[in-house]
Amino acid sequence: MKNVLITGASRGIGAETARLFAKSGCHVYLNYNRSEEAAFALYEELQVYSVELVRADVSKPEQVREMFSAVRGIDILVNNAGMAQTKLFTDITDEDWQKMLAVNLSSAFYCCRAALPYMIRQHFGRIINISSMWGQVGGSCEVHYSAAKAGIIGLTKALAMEEGLSGITVNCIAPGVIRTDMTANLSDSDFAALKDETPTNTIGTPFDIARTILFLADEASSFITGQVIGVNGGFVV
Ligand code: NAP
Repeated sequence: MKNVLITGASRGIGAETARLFAKSGCHVYLNYNRSEEAAFALYEELQVYSVELVRADVSKPEQVREMFSAVRGIDILVNNAGMAQTKLFTDITDEDWQKMLAVNLSSAFYCCRAALPYMIRQHFGRIINISSMWGQVGGSCEVHYSAAKAGIIGLTKALAMEEGLSGITVNCIAPGVIRTDMTANLSDSDFAALKDETPTNTIGTPFDIARTILFLADEASSFITGQVIGVNGGFVV
């Protein structure tokens, strides 16, 4: 049975990914930070499968170290935890900048660093990082978010080069607009406008991303590494 750790599994894309991995027969570590109630509800929902809760703020290296000392060897790591903020560039404070990079980018560095020694020993590993289409093309009023998500793309490509001979693949998914708490601030007319701009004329769901993560995590996906997979209805090509 493969061990999977999903950061930010309490809600949205992470929670849906946890459901798919649990149903596929993996042992799933559900990481959460603030949303204890949602995390416990998901844990209850998935009780018939093999799941465990692990609390950690993954933007903090010491908490990531502690979390990894409490789990068995991780075969599949999904770096999904993230936050967004919409601000004019000139309004972004030092604190906003540092938090954005810590939650969206440094967290992936800390988790990869902790997971890799076991993967290298096993000569098997799958790392899937969640970027964003705004990391590919840049989003107005989201410079710090776009920079962090572009950093995830660089981390993915470089780490894939380094780990290729160790049987470890490192890929990233760049989602388009997905209906979760992260986009709950968008109005119906915002969604309608975004839909109009999307070639498929649809808004994405957490399932669209989760099933792509599952695909990349498969043992048979061993020839795919260092890639950025856009799951965005054609919004960015
Ligand atoms: P969401 O519904 O807002 O959920 C965010 C998740 O990240 C929560 O489970 C949250 O856990 C966790 N998280 C945040 N900070 C954390 C921290 N410091 N430590 C541990 N967990 C933390 O967001 P989502 O839409 O599912 O987004 C998931 C990923 O997809 C993010 O990386 C996001 O940037 C990316 N993405 C989303 C969209 C979209 O349109 N929704 C588009 C492109 C990319 P707690 O609540 O327990 O703290």
